[in-house]
Amino acid sequence: MGFDPSERVVEIRARLEAFMDKHIFPREHEYEEFVTDQNNLWKTPPFVRDLRAKAREQGLWNLFLPEEYKPWSLGLTNVEIAHIFETMSRVTWAQTIFNCNAPDRGNMEVLAKYGSKEQQEKWLRPLLDGKIRSAYAMTEPQVASSDATNMELEIKRDGDEYVLNGRKWWTTGVVSPDCKIMLVMGKSNPENDRHTQHSTILVPTDTPGFKVERALKVFGGYHSPGGEGDSSFSDVRVPVENMIKGEGCGFEIAQGRLGPGRFQYAMTFVGLAQRCLELMCERATQRVAFGETLNAKTSVQHEIARSRCDIEQCRLLVLEAADKMDREGPNGAKEHISMVKIVGPRMAEKVASRAIQVFGGMGVSQDTLLPDVFNHARFCRIADGPDEVHMSQLGKLTIRRVLSELSNG
Ligand SMILES: Cc1cc2nc3c(=O)[nH]c(=O)nc-3n(C[C@H](O)[C@H](O)[C@H](O)COP(=O)(O)OP(=O)(O)OC[C@H]3O[C@@H](n4cnc5c(N)ncnc54)[C@H](O)[C@@H]3O)c2cc1C
Repeated sequence: MGFDPSERVVEIRARLEAFMDKHIFPREHEYEEFVTDQNNLWKTPPFVRDLRAKAREQGLWNLFLPEEYKPWSLGLTNVEIAHIFETMSRVTWAQTIFNCNAPDRGNMEVLAKYGSKEQQEKWLRPLLDGKIRSAYAMTEPQVASSDATNMELEIKRDGDEYVLNGRKWWTTGVVSPDCKIMLVMGKSNPENDRHTQHSTILVPTDTPGFKVERALKVFGGYHSPGGEGDSSFSDVRVPVENMIKGEGCGFEIAQGRLGPGRFQYAMTFVGLAQRCLELMCERATQRVAFGETLNAKTSVQHEIARSRCDIEQCRLLVLEAADKMDREGPNGAKEHISMVKIVGPRMAEKVASRAIQVFGGMGVSQDTLLPDVFNHARFCRIADGPDEVHMSQLGKLTIRRVLSELSNG
């Protein structure tokens, strides 16, 4: 099985690499200093707007929607997108420049797949144009949210409107002033069976009764300029036209949202880990301790070798998952999608940790992206569903597959 990049990927990648070299790598420190300055809380560095405009002009924009999402997609296959994602993920904030960042990416996918014409015109178009940002609000503080069927926020029909009451937390992006629309999952049909009790509904962030109560810190720091919020919904009223797909489809949408998104998310970790490996190799070649450069020490060579193996294994698995999506659709790729969700963040966490060790004190400072990658990989073992949920699902699918293969001789 070969996953060589197609001609158009080679061409797009070359342009992306040139863009990263010219506009993104040179601004890594400027970005870091801006977003960690408390005076700039929830503000985006001014150069981000200019870079987004440049990326759009160059056609390096909205590269995440696979061909089945036409007319909204540029027509790339999942394998092609996977290759491109590695390149654009070598800096933690670079996906934003190309309008390919989470959670907007997943929300645009939902609107392209399930949205009505009116919803697409009103919300998908400005999101694809990069004029607004969005959030996905599922998780609630009072229930174990790794089980999506636990959600309690009430969605009740009242004439031509739905009324929402409840609480959501860990909603990424909602603290940003640019966030104008939320996809909110809540319970609308408690009389139905477990998997059809919930719905997903569009709620503009300026709707009366909605309030971000506080921003949450992640490992002691705010995720400015995006920001995870803890919010309340008190008699929030939206028109019935804001319901996505129909009442009872919330669970289906939550699952569907993470199809192509899952391998893009895993490829993000390949790009980040590859960058950590490159930094580790450079540092080990320059730094001298006890009379020799670090790269002459067997233990460092082994950490570099382990990292290379881990990254390459993950890269191939992600490409295989993307290939399955192309050939068999999300259902056929189910097991691979679970695998890459489990493997991606763990791999990047290990590689970043090894690179931090090779860098010594500098490795935990703000002078490289290593701590960011380490943190990001760690919390992503919880966000989008904890590892254990995906492992249980994969375990069950594996047992079923093995038994069926054995019984078929
Ligand atoms: C930085 C960050 C960003 C996030 N962004 C969003 C967002 O944009 N929108 C959103 O809705 N949510 C978001 N989340 C929330 C995230 O999806 C939830 O935290 C996650 O689904 C787990 O839910 P919980 O926190 O309620 O943990 P719980 O459900 O209480 O689970 C706690 C622990 O129990 C264990 N566990 C759970 N199920 C099983 C099982 N089946 N088998 C074995 N052990 C198990 C796991 O170790 C798990 O970590 C974000 C979270 C973080 C940290």
